[in-house]
Amino acid sequence: NKLVNTYEKIYQLHHLIETKSFMDLAGPYKVGVDLGTADVVLAVTDNLGNPVAGSMRWASVVRDGLVYDFRGATEIVHELKSEVEQIMGVKLERGATAIPPGTVGRNALACSNVIAGAGLEPICQVDEPVAAARALNLRHGIVVDIGGGTTGVAVLKDGSLVFTADEPTGGTHVSLVLAGAYGITFEEAEKLKKDSSNHKRIMPVIVPVIEKMATIVKGILNDKGDFSDYPVYVVGGTAYLEGFEYQFSKAFGREVHVPPHPLLVTPLGIALYS
Ligand code: ATP
Repeated sequence: NKLVNTYEKIYQLHHLIETKSFMDLAGPYKVGVDLGTADVVLAVTDNLGNPVAGSMRWASVVRDGLVYDFRGATEIVHELKSEVEQIMGVKLERGATAIPPGTVGRNALACSNVIAGAGLEPICQVDEPVAAARALNLRHGIVVDIGGGTTGVAVLKDGSLVFTADEPTGGTHVSLVLAGAYGITFEEAEKLKKDSSNHKRIMPVIVPVIEKMATIVKGILNDKGDFSDYPVYVVGGTAYLEGFEYQFSKAFGREVHVPPHPLLVTPLGIALYS
């Protein structure tokens, strides 16, 4: 079962990041860097796509999918790269990165420039939800990547990309609503939200945000055709919320699937493109 195998890889990557350890697999290695609104993740796999090591940092060097703190982003990628190199005892030479669909011009170049500045030769730049689809081994279906500031959508039919789209919504909006409802700062809301012991309590407050996200994604799909029989996978850190899968499915009008550690799906997929 391909999906079980894929989910095992995601669990494995999570374990490697948490324990700061590595899998002793032979190179050449593939490296993926996900520069996100809320965090930066570096994932390393072997040539077959098996996770070898990884590292991540919560950081706000990207806003609404665009690199706004170039120096900060470069420093973080350099740190993550050095950390993983030390764990693996290997020097990482090149890597892939990703952007929200529709990012163009200098904004599109920024991610590759960041990893180049950190000492990784950029060899490929993919659309984030397309990378997620690759990590999930999805040839036919819909991937919705709900990150911090952006929500990307990729639709695949028989192994070919039908279209990608991007909308400026995500976990940042969840935190803003929490900050407003509880009278706390954005940073406090982020902390509250990332602690799963609070998820049951905060869910009623954030259901309208999840409903809005589902409506946005439905709108994108309805404009492009009839994809009613395509399986839907939702990835990205926002999908960690307990009850998210149920609430999103309810608002979306059909069942969606959330893989384990949804925040790590896109980074794993990016590595596979390198
Ligand atoms: P983008 O793709 O928009 O640039 P990103 O790559 O940083 O952003 P992800 O890493 O997929 O996006 O997800 C980050 C979001 O997930 C943030 O809003 C963060 O608060 C949220 N998040 C992370 N962990 C959890 C958790 N355990 N519970 C709830 N939300 C979480």
